[in-house]
Amino acid sequence: MTKNILIIGGGHNGLVCGAYLAKAGNKVTILEANDSVGGFLASHQFSDGYSVNGLAGVVHPLNPKIAKDLGIKAGGEPVDTISLGKDGRHLILGEDGVSGDKLSDKDKDAYRAFKKEFRNYAKALEPLTMNKPPRLKDMDTRDKFTLAKLGWKLRFGLGASSMREFLRVGGINIYDVLNEIIDDEQLKGAISFDAVLGHQMGPRTPTTVLTYLNRLRGETYGATSLAGANSAFEEAAAKAGVTIKTGAAVSKIVVENGKATGVVLEGGEEMNADIVVSNADAKTTFLDLVGAPELDAMFAKRISTTRTNGNVAKLHFALSALPNFNGLDADQLSNRLIVAPDMRYVEHAFNHSKYGEFSEKPILEITFPSLADISLAPEGHHVMAVSASFAPYNLKAGWDQNKSAFSHKVLSLIEDYAPGVSASVVADEILTPADIEQGFNVKGGHWHHGELTIDQSFMMRPIHGTAQYNTPIDGLFLCGAAAHPGGGVTGIPGHNAAERILSMKGGAS
Ligand SMILES: Cc1cc2nc3c(=O)[nH]c(=O)nc-3n(C[C@H](O)[C@H](O)[C@H](O)COP(=O)(O)OP(=O)(O)OC[C@H]3O[C@@H](n4cnc5c(N)ncnc54)[C@H](O)[C@@H]3O)c2cc1C
Repeated sequence: MTKNILIIGGGHNGLVCGAYLAKAGNKVTILEANDSVGGFLASHQFSDGYSVNGLAGVVHPLNPKIAKDLGIKAGGEPVDTISLGKDGRHLILGEDGVSGDKLSDKDKDAYRAFKKEFRNYAKALEPLTMNKPPRLKDMDTRDKFTLAKLGWKLRFGLGASSMREFLRVGGINIYDVLNEIIDDEQLKGAISFDAVLGHQMGPRTPTTVLTYLNRLRGETYGATSLAGANSAFEEAAAKAGVTIKTGAAVSKIVVENGKATGVVLEGGEEMNADIVVSNADAKTTFLDLVGAPELDAMFAKRISTTRTNGNVAKLHFALSALPNFNGLDADQLSNRLIVAPDMRYVEHAFNHSKYGEFSEKPILEITFPSLADISLAPEGHHVMAVSASFAPYNLKAGWDQNKSAFSHKVLSLIEDYAPGVSASVVADEILTPADIEQGFNVKGGHWHHGELTIDQSFMMRPIHGTAQYNTPIDGLFLCGAAAHPGGGVTGIPGHNAAERILSMKGGAS
């Protein structure tokens, strides 16, 4: 039977979830608070004539099933990661190989073997990724099937010795693993960068092998690329028949006798629904929109104590010319550049954030989106986008007084690699996690809507009791990055949530 479904939030996961539910014959309406859909992927003008295609600048293709089901192609031309060296010694990390001056053949071979092995681990975890996390108690047939497939992939997909190695390293930190196999400090710094970006973690933090595998999952689907215009998700939803309403902030989820029956918009309008799905983060969904009085006290308490404070600031610079990076040709600037010279540097950058300070020497991901999409800046001009870590949400000294200090720190660090870049800056913007919370309606402004630590992953994401997309409120579901398997431009939470809703007794058609 056709159900009337309201989705709160038009992030890419809300759009994916909506497209699947509408394709299955339901009447789906997406209610987005902002003036355009896309969430962290929404295009954003930061100065007159200068824009970016969202906060998420570096993407991978979607899981092939989602891409095929919905006809969505994410990303464009493949790019390499270039780890910048102050002395002009840069490392170029491709999907499989790495090159760079003075890099030993031993390290080149070790990198190749490491990537192959770790990509196989990421592939082996796929059954867990693309399904609801199995319940450990009261498993249904699907849960048993997921675990059986996972076991099969680990034992027979990887083989006995790889499986043993995966079990050995799976729970430890990337710092120890890399020290076992690679000598070059810059190469280790570059790999550890990918394990910690977006997380409140340094290379020595336990579970950084898992966060690295989470990142590598995208590579199992295809090459890294820069995000282009992100209308594909909106188009897929619209094509499936989803109605999209922007400027429609939801202020309340109506609950009657333990069942979600609709929502109230900020303007006071009430909308009824058979099913309500939330693309908002878990704190917003349960504490702000449902409200603690409708929840079990312990459940509300556990939601309130999830760790959701972000630590990545996004900086956008409008440039009158492309900068000159020591030792790089202009055409190499279309790649992804990173500043993470070694693992100790990355760990030190992280240490500051433990004490509520921003990094004295941050780690950086730098891209020039205007090289892939010339519409983002006036002719001859460019946009430089920088993800800078660590920039804690709760800065002890307060962000209002310190934004420009951090922005200055980031720019002067880039100046070390690209002398003269500051002189070409004609406008800039810094979005701290607190600004991201405000502008994108995500508590804490966190990359993943909440840390991806073991205690907030799999069957405990965002917390146990609501880890399979359904919630303690009948007819209310989660479909965003707060749910398994977390954030990134993957569409997977949206896909899994739709499957869950469609498969549940009393769920949608
Ligand atoms: C600085 C930064 C850089 C990043 N860079 C990358 C990157 O390079 N590559 C990558 O893969 N990932 C990146 N990410 C992570 C990635 O962008 C997110 O994990 C992902 O986009 C989350 O998608 P989502 O659809 O679940 O949620 P969101 O994109 O956050 O969408 C949620 C939507 O819900 C709406 N909403 C919330 N509350 C309400 C309400 N009450 N009423 C109506 N609407 C509401 C919001 O306005 C928003 O549109 C980055 C994240 C950050 C913060």
